Amino acid sequence: MKVSPSIENLVPYKPGKPIEETKRELGLTEVTKLASNENALGPSSKVVEAINKAALEIHRYPDPSCHLLAEKVSKHYNIESSKIAFGNGSNEVIDLLIRIFCEPQDNIVTSQAAFVAYKVCAQAARVNVVEAKMTEDLKFDLNEISSLCDQHNPKIVFIANPNNPTGTYLNESELFKFVESQKHKLDQLIVIDEAYFEFVRAKDAPNALDLLSNYKNVAVIRTFSKVFGLAGIRLGALFAHEYILDYYNRVRNPFNVNSLSQAGALAALDDEDYLKSSQDMVWSGLDYFYKELEGIGVNYWPSQANFVLIDVAQPAVAVYQELLKLGVILRPVNNYGFETLLRLSVGTAEENQKAIQALKIVLKK
Ligand SMILES: *Cc1c(COP(=O)(O)O)cnc(C)c1O
Repeated sequence: MKVSPSIENLVPYKPGKPIEETKRELGLTEVTKLASNENALGPSSKVVEAINKAALEIHRYPDPSCHLLAEKVSKHYNIESSKIAFGNGSNEVIDLLIRIFCEPQDNIVTSQAAFVAYKVCAQAARVNVVEAKMTEDLKFDLNEISSLCDQHNPKIVFIANPNNPTGTYLNESELFKFVESQKHKLDQLIVIDEAYFEFVRAKDAPNALDLLSNYKNVAVIRTFSKVFGLAGIRLGALFAHEYILDYYNRVRNPFNVNSLSQAGALAALDDEDYLKSSQDMVWSGLDYFYKELEGIGVNYWPSQANFVLIDVAQPAVAVYQELLKLGVILRPVNNYGFETLLRLSVGTAEENQKAIQALKIVLKK
């Protein structure tokens, strides 16, 4: 069977190296994985309890409308439930938005070092990806993005704020000015992915949900994979105008969010202590990393997320491999064209110390 060139050329998403695989290959008994921006707290016990309870009903189909979840998310983020829909991870939301709004050969615009899912999903749908270069300090370059929008008339513009893998962010005035400047483009959707929203400490950072009341061509994505510690249950949320959700609900599979996910997420939204502990762990972990990295003279980009991008000033894949031998898994980002950079997720205090010790050994600091 021949397939289309855009499928033939797809490079599958490469997840962080699994712990078990690393143990097996390197004969290690203890491995620390700080490679996938997962929540190192482990799941909330209230969520586990709720999922156990919901397991007694798994012979039933889930609620296809995620009614209770939409109500609860509506209260949590203070936005009408009619503007909320869900996906099997934000990844499915991204995939569906592209399938809904783009025809083969249409364009999307994003940034060179943007979260890779936009590109993979576009390519799978035979949609062209136009990438803006980033600024010197590894931020999204909105001027560049703006001129690419004028040139290429994309159907969708994807902005991750803060961005993965850079951890950098656009402030409110930068982002809102851009959105205002694109207001007249009624056939161009601006998707703002706020996967790390709860980890942002910068006082001038936006809440993109504030844009929905004024702009019909904006959609916002959030996820339960990060601050809520639910990466394994695959749940993402889409916030957008009702006309967008109408298309979304026509295209998605009716039972795209399973019943255990719905039950787990409902419990997660009730567990404020867990949320707060997640934030505290990440913020103190980042501060620890900054102090230690400065101590050993390793450059980094201050992060608004639960990871930090560091410059090891030598081929990073080799450093990554040496770190593996010491039982520490970080994430190379050479797929984004960053040959000397590694991404380090925040773990528990103990895991963070282990990562820094290993870095000191490998970098001979
Ligand atoms: C981690 C991450 C997500 C989450 O994806 P899920 O499919 O919901 O797990 C979304 N966007 C960005 C930018 C991320 O880094």
